[in-house]
Amino acid sequence: ADDSGDSLVAVALEARGAQGLARSSGLPDELFVHDGQLTKRPVRALALSALSPRPGERLWDIGAGSGSISIEWALCGGTAIAIEARGERAANIRSNAASFGLAHRITIIEGEAPGILPGLAAPDAVFIGGGLDADMFAAIWSHIALGTRLVAHAVTLETEALLSGLHQRHGGELMRVEIAQAEPLGRYRSWKAARPIVQWSVIK
Ligand code: SAH
Repeated sequence: ADDSGDSLVAVALEARGAQGLARSSGLPDELFVHDGQLTKRPVRALALSALSPRPGERLWDIGAGSGSISIEWALCGGTAIAIEARGERAANIRSNAASFGLAHRITIIEGEAPGILPGLAAPDAVFIGGGLDADMFAAIWSHIALGTRLVAHAVTLETEALLSGLHQRHGGELMRVEIAQAEPLGRYRSWKAARPIVQWSVIK
C-alpha cells in the first residue's frame, strides 16, 4: 500500500482521538480527499444501507467522484468498479483507495457511463451518483442481471422526475431525505438545510 496514503488516514483518525475505523458506514467526510463532490456522511450511510453490501460482492459505482461509496462498500468485504468521467477526480479515488489500503479491491475506470459499461464484470449492485438520465438508465437496466440491486440518488428536479417515473414503472422504494445541521447564527444557532436528496432503490 501507498505509505503517504496510509498515514493520511492514520493522521485523520488520530486527530479525532479514534482507535481505528468505525465498523458502521458513514465515515467522516475528512477521511476522503475530495473537491466538494462528495456524498456527505449521513447521506452516504443511507446509500450504503440501501446497497446492502455483502462480502465478496461487486459494486459498480457510477459517477464515483471521490470514491467514498466504493471505499465504504469495499470495507464491507466486497470489490468495486469506480467509474468517473473526470481525470482529477479519478486521481482522488486512486489516492483515497490507497489511503484505506483498498487499492487491490477497487478498480478505477476513467471514462463516461454508459459507454464504458459493456465489458465490465457483472455487478451485484449498482450505485448511480452522477450523470443519470433516461438513456443511461435504459443502458444499465438492460445490461444488468435479474436480482441486481440498483440505488440512485438525485439532487436535481430533472433527475428526481426521472426517478419518480422509474419508481412508478419498476417499483422499489423512493425516499426523500432532508437534513439540516445546527450552525452558528450570530450569538445563536440555526438550522442550515442541505439540498434534499431523492433515493430510489430497486431490485431488477
Ligand atoms: N458519490 C460520490 C460523489 C458523486 S458526484 C462521492 O461520494 O464522492 C457525481 C460524479 O459523477 C461527478 O464526479 C461527475 O464527474 C460524475 N459523472 C457525471 N456523469 C458521469 C458519467 N456519464 N460517467 C461517469 N461519471 C460521471
